[in-house]
Amino acid sequence: MRATGPAQGVTVPAGDGFVIPGGLVDAHCHIGLGPGGGVDRATAMAQVRAAARAGIGLIRDCGAPTDTHWIDARIDEALSAERADGAEPAILPRIIRSGRHLARPRRYLPGFALELDSPGDLPKEVARQARAGDGWVKIVADWIDRSAGAEADIAPLWPAEVLVDAVAAAHENGARVTAHTFSRAALGPLIEAGVDCLEHATGAGPEEIAEIAARGIAVTPTLLQVDNFPAFAHQAKRYPVYAATVTALHAAHDEQVAAMHAAGVRLLPGSDAGGSLPHDLLPHELLAWRRAGLPDAEILRLATSSAREFLEPEGDGSGEVSAPVIYPRDPAEDLTALLDAFVHGEQL
Ligand SMILES: [Zn+2]
Repeated sequence: MRATGPAQGVTVPAGDGFVIPGGLVDAHCHIGLGPGGGVDRATAMAQVRAAARAGIGLIRDCGAPTDTHWIDARIDEALSAERADGAEPAILPRIIRSGRHLARPRRYLPGFALELDSPGDLPKEVARQARAGDGWVKIVADWIDRSAGAEADIAPLWPAEVLVDAVAAAHENGARVTAHTFSRAALGPLIEAGVDCLEHATGAGPEEIAEIAARGIAVTPTLLQVDNFPAFAHQAKRYPVYAATVTALHAAHDEQVAAMHAAGVRLLPGSDAGGSLPHDLLPHELLAWRRAGLPDAEILRLATSSAREFLEPEGDGSGEVSAPVIYPRDPAEDLTALLDAFVHGEQL
């Protein structure tokens, strides 16, 4: 922490308001993904622009059905066109990609993931995705196993020894690993395998939280996505065990997030936009973190400098483009200011 001046990545005064240099970070969303799977290019660009309007300057894409590297050139074009018009460019997010979600047949949302017939193929595919992505790989670690009929519950997708080889394959190819996980059963093997990050992590009890903290594993708690669990339970009438599981996970989640923060787990901001959720949701997700008792300034630190430091350990903490997303009040003092942003003089 610098002795004078604002900390990098948090707010600075600008004219009549405040800016967040480099913008907010959305460490879990999906660009190029809609409710039925992949979307066309115009829709993907609309998703990027929606994220920009929400003040997001850096995205970690947590799995997309198609390669969206073409977007990087479009973002550069859009920024230089705005500069040529004499306008200060609206912030457009930079995207760090995790390649494709890796799952097994009938063990994730249809149309989203690359589905591996044989679980033993995971390490090989992880290596391939690591080489094709931007430094991250996304593994779907658990999902409902409907083959169990009325007893169906959330269950792990991969044997523990396969996860060990898969995480090693990612690391050997220069990528870190994050994993989708809802259940407690999936967490131990993921932690032991050496994952770098966990998405949702709703199954973590006190023992897992202590281990996650000790190993420096980051967690994206996605409170608004977990708020959908009661609806999942309602829709799962044929699967009463699963319905009870997700109901209990939802009920415990706010306190669990508070416990993770208290234990020193690095919490990452993530909207889980894409699929069913909109790409301008992140400010609302951050406001939901108040339910875990976190102060506004701490939430904003986690959603900016802390997340950048984790995602870009080699970076200098600043954004690449100027950020004329103006907040009328300092969001570090009152997080609701994130909902009142202006760009080019227009309220968003
Ligand atoms: Zn997701």
